[in-house]
Amino acid sequence: MPPFLSFFRTLKMPHLTQNQGLSKQELSSAHACRPQCAACCIAPSISAATPKHPQGKAAGVRCGHLTQHLLCELFDSPLRPATCKKFHFDIEVCQQDAASALKVLETWEILTKPSSANL
Ligand code: SF4
Ligand code: SF4
Repeated sequence: MPPFLSFFRTLKMPHLTQNQGLSKQELSSAHACRPQCAACCIAPSISAATPKHPQGKAAGVRCGHLTQHLLCELFDSPLRPATCKKFHFDIEVCQQDAASALKVLETWEILTKPSSANL
């Protein structure tokens, strides 16, 4: 699990587990990474350098290594950041659709900014 996720999972943020009318059972049934999502390749900042982001990727920026089909062109490459390799589908993060996942990840990104750490 990437460091930012480890941190997030220690927080009690019940609003992040709320959904748009789906039961917990319905949410749990969606247990695999969705095609055409890529929320986790857009919302979070990634500090590790990659060929297309030599200074790391800023939050909210679509990773340059996403293909037109929203797949990772570095998936099997040693150049793929460790943070990405460790990130796996988690219903609390991924929710039921890409838009919801983006909201969760954007919120987490804001909450873990150094300037907001003590708020
Ligand atoms: S946010 Fe979740 S469902 Fe979407 S691409 Fe990433 S791991 Fe897959
Ligand atoms: S390197 Fe690959 S897995 Fe990592 S953010 Fe970019 S597209 Fe996603």
